[in-house]
Amino acid sequence: MSRYPALTIFDAVKKFGWPEPGSPIISRELLLGDACNARCVFCCAKDLQEKAVWLPESLIRERIDKWASEGAWLVTFSGGEVTLYPGLEKISAYAKKRGFKSVQILTNGLKLRDYDYVRRLADAGIDEVKISLHGTDAATHDWLMQVPGAFDNAFIATENLNRAGIKASFNFAVTSRNYMQMPLFARLAGSRLGVTGFCFMFSFYSGGMLEEAGGLGVKYSAAVPYLRLALRYMKVKNIVIESKMLSNFVPCVAPELTNLMSDWGFSGPEAVSKVGIGGKVREVKESYPERKTRLPSCAGCVYADRCYGPDSGYVKIYGGSEFIPHYKEEKNFPYKTLYP
Ligand code: SF4
Repeated sequence: MSRYPALTIFDAVKKFGWPEPGSPIISRELLLGDACNARCVFCCAKDLQEKAVWLPESLIRERIDKWASEGAWLVTFSGGEVTLYPGLEKISAYAKKRGFKSVQILTNGLKLRDYDYVRRLADAGIDEVKISLHGTDAATHDWLMQVPGAFDNAFIATENLNRAGIKASFNFAVTSRNYMQMPLFARLAGSRLGVTGFCFMFSFYSGGMLEEAGGLGVKYSAAVPYLRLALRYMKVKNIVIESKMLSNFVPCVAPELTNLMSDWGFSGPEAVSKVGIGGKVREVKESYPERKTRLPSCAGCVYADRCYGPDSGYVKIYGGSEFIPHYKEEKNFPYKTLYP
């Protein structure tokens, strides 16, 4: 599908000197600002998008210095839309110079249709780009992003990344409009595009997701069967799972997939990852409890000592009947990740 093959995780380890599979991921994320050039209907920061206020470069450099000294090897710049930030190449080059083995960005991919720009990102040391791709057809993705042509653009962006030698990966936000496409998405990303790094993110019920909940919300119990099919497909096709690829899930909705869930509790390595928002830096485990809620039934669950509980906005809409406590910790995981 692409004239240039996608970089696999194994290629990236070799090319960029990333730690070998099995090593702990010590990562930091910095939100540079909230401005965005898309209008995703589910966006949880919709009301902030007009404010094109970026973090001062001095503060960004300060964070990079500090995090490098703490031994982090992966830094992610996110937003808003990071490609709108005028100093992206400069701070990426600085992070590489300060010793980060991996410099990544999260983006809607719209600016990446320009190969010269992608080339400059590669030259600045950006080695992985996570593009938002929320559907397997233009009608779905373009509508969710509210940008006509965004789906075709994502393919051009992927081609440009492959050509420039940057590892491409995808983030897929699960909503009522696309949850049935998860197996097809695994085929599109993993088999047709040869991309292994993709993540299914169950949407947070705030911002656009709340405004649109009548039309966009989907219950875990409806989505999980399609997620299981997607993972089954990946196994049959030997598509590797690079690292934890499920976001905003809790163990009780699919206990056998707990080892793929990234942000459900206090115990994983990601819980102590740090996220910089504005002038503040917080560990992930400090910010999640604000968005999540513990249900009375959680008290009896084997995960209760670690689990933040489900998304509070979700519970307001759908109630808590899907979150059934587990009395025995799941030990059998049918799918393994390359990085813990
Ligand atoms: S603590 Fe609550 S939300 Fe977490 S896994 Fe148990 S029942 Fe589910």
